[in-house]
Amino acid sequence: MDKFDYDLFVIGGGSGGVRAARIAALYGARVGIAEEYRYGGTCVIRGCVPKKLFVYASEYSGAFEDAAGYGWRVGAAQFDWATLCANKDREITRLEGLYRRNLERAGVELFDTRAVLEGPHHIRLVARGASVTAKVILIATGSTPYVDNSVPGIEHTITSNEAFHLSAFPERVIVAGGGYIAVEFAGIFHGLGAEVTLVYRGEEILRGFDDDLRRGVHEAYEKKGIRVICNSVFSKIEKTADGLIGRLSDGSEIAADQILFAIGRRPFTEGLGLEAAGVAVAENGAIPVDAYSRTNVPHIYAVGDVTDRVNLTPVAIREGHAFADTVFGNRPTAVDHSTVASAVFSRPEIGTVGLSEAEARSQYDKVDIYRSRFRPLKDTLSGRDNQAMVKLVVDGESDRVLGCHILGPDAAELVQVLAIALKMGAKKADFDAAIAVHPTLAEELVTMREKVAES
Ligand code: NDP
Repeated sequence: MDKFDYDLFVIGGGSGGVRAARIAALYGARVGIAEEYRYGGTCVIRGCVPKKLFVYASEYSGAFEDAAGYGWRVGAAQFDWATLCANKDREITRLEGLYRRNLERAGVELFDTRAVLEGPHHIRLVARGASVTAKVILIATGSTPYVDNSVPGIEHTITSNEAFHLSAFPERVIVAGGGYIAVEFAGIFHGLGAEVTLVYRGEEILRGFDDDLRRGVHEAYEKKGIRVICNSVFSKIEKTADGLIGRLSDGSEIAADQILFAIGRRPFTEGLGLEAAGVAVAENGAIPVDAYSRTNVPHIYAVGDVTDRVNLTPVAIREGHAFADTVFGNRPTAVDHSTVASAVFSRPEIGTVGLSEAEARSQYDKVDIYRSRFRPLKDTLSGRDNQAMVKLVVDGESDRVLGCHILGPDAAELVQVLAIALKMGAKKADFDAAIAVHPTLAEELVTMREKVAES
């Protein structure tokens, strides 16, 4: 009889935890997993997946308008929030079922409960009032929306968690923040018909992205009618008979039905019992790990947002898989966190991989920039004044493409493929050698010959 109940116990049934549990079980480990909310985690239940479904929903308003230029006459369109939410919920429930079944099929034992550490090898299953032991423990509890309690009236606001389950569609929305979530939700609510204001504390939204992308989204949002207020924060939020009033640091006030705060997420480690197990925690709550996702306690590992490395679902999945390969597959695997492509599902969409122009200039002596701005073909007949942009950041000495940034239709799809080229070390000459596919947006990637800037 083994001295432990499990070879591996995973706390958290999100992207990273589920992948790790499943792969470890397929290697023959006895695996248990605990999830206190719903299997699939933030991405599936109240993040990427329902968000993208909402993005699709939000695109119809523009598509109905654009149809006229193509000869279609569409009657007055009506949007029903309750139908969208119910259909979205049904799909999310189906996906959660798939996650559960895949775990069960792999032989993982599922527990629907909060789990906390009681000691280096002891896990308390709170809802069961019982404890189990495990030889190896994986913490994959993800992150949770940051709530700034210093803002008076913050209790009247919502986070992305609640945005997916509003009982009524908000006609007037203020979104606080300038990152992925804020920008995406501003676009969603606007597309669904709300009057939207985005309030960001800095000079320009989407800090960390290439400046052309940041300006491009900002301009496109204003053109659509989304109000973007920079250099401002909330000083107070008040509830009135008519909804909410957001008072800003510049002295202005805005009325709203909902105020969504999307000002970042924090590693979800509170109350997890990490001290009881001797696991070190950083000041922001993140669990520091080595290249193999190992914490300071040799048999306790952590993957995904809780480690605050690159906080993206596919990265968590890769970390979970690499952990299982390392510990149970006898194949030590470190995750390469460089050149990770990502997308912002704003409209227009961002697809980005590699270095921004500013990052490249700070790291390389000679940087060449190739950029093309144009109106997508589809927007010609519709008469819509959209601008797409394709930009390559190139090392002027080696000719290697350091970064690629796209703003426009299907940017996320394109950048996934470009990530392969960049990972392979593609040079600008390799891009030039490929013959264009016409007429596409992507052809710009292989037809840009003139540098727009060099240093
Ligand atoms: P981000 O870290 O992307 O952005 C946070 C935003 O809030 C920034 O604009 C930041 O400003 C601002 N902010 C931070 N603190 C305050 C404050 N106290 N008051 C006012 N503003 C503040 O976080 P998100 O919440 O947008 O997203 C969380 C994570 O989820 C991201 O890291 C991302 O990895 C992931 N995600 C990925 C998506 C995708 O891949 N498409 C979609 C959604 C989320 P400043 O820039 O000045 O710091």
